[in-house]
Amino acid sequence: MPWIDRFFGLRCPVCGGDLDAPGVCLACREELVPERVDQAVYLGRYRRLRGLVRAVKYRRNRLALAWAAGRLADRVRAAGFGVEAVTFVPTFPWRALLRGQYPPAELARGIAGELGVPFRALLYRRRYTPSQTRRRNRHRLPQVFAPRGPAPSSVLLVDDVLTTGATFRRAAEALFAAGAERVYGAFLAVADPGRLRRLPYNPGGAGR
Ligand SMILES: [Zn+2]
Repeated sequence: MPWIDRFFGLRCPVCGGDLDAPGVCLACREELVPERVDQAVYLGRYRRLRGLVRAVKYRRNRLALAWAAGRLADRVRAAGFGVEAVTFVPTFPWRALLRGQYPPAELARGIAGELGVPFRALLYRRRYTPSQTRRRNRHRLPQVFAPRGPAPSSVLLVDDVLTTGATFRRAAEALFAAGAERVYGAFLAVADPGRLRRLPYNPGGAGR
């Protein structure tokens, strides 16, 4: 480990132990093996990877992000998902600006690089009209996505955390509307892996 890491007292974002490798410690590297459920892969459960998600999201831990992207790409390859492009569930531009970089996009870019397929920003998030905002509870706003143009037929859709799956579903539906025939998922952390069985992976697919 470089002396400078020890100097700054960096800890592993997963277990909180000494950081003996860049981004994530060696013991966690060995223990964390991505899982596959249906047409999705994920590195671990949210309750275990909360620290990693935070490190990537708020502390811009690029080394941990790059490591996670590599693991997820390996799992996508092993699963035989034939993806033509890798994209991400977008946020509003102002949020991305505030944060500097947007973890789902960085994760998608890293996975695309490892797989050797194009990284593409296929979706954007639409603004709500004032009437929609008034009508609905602020915390229950629908998440509306629109395609930037035609989508390739097979796309890997990346997000940092999957909770209910509602956001992923909306984003996948926007990809189907743009011509995608198969959507695969890749996540850093998943709250409940059972939800992965109910995601839509093709137009008219499961769980609606
Ligand atoms: Zn660790």
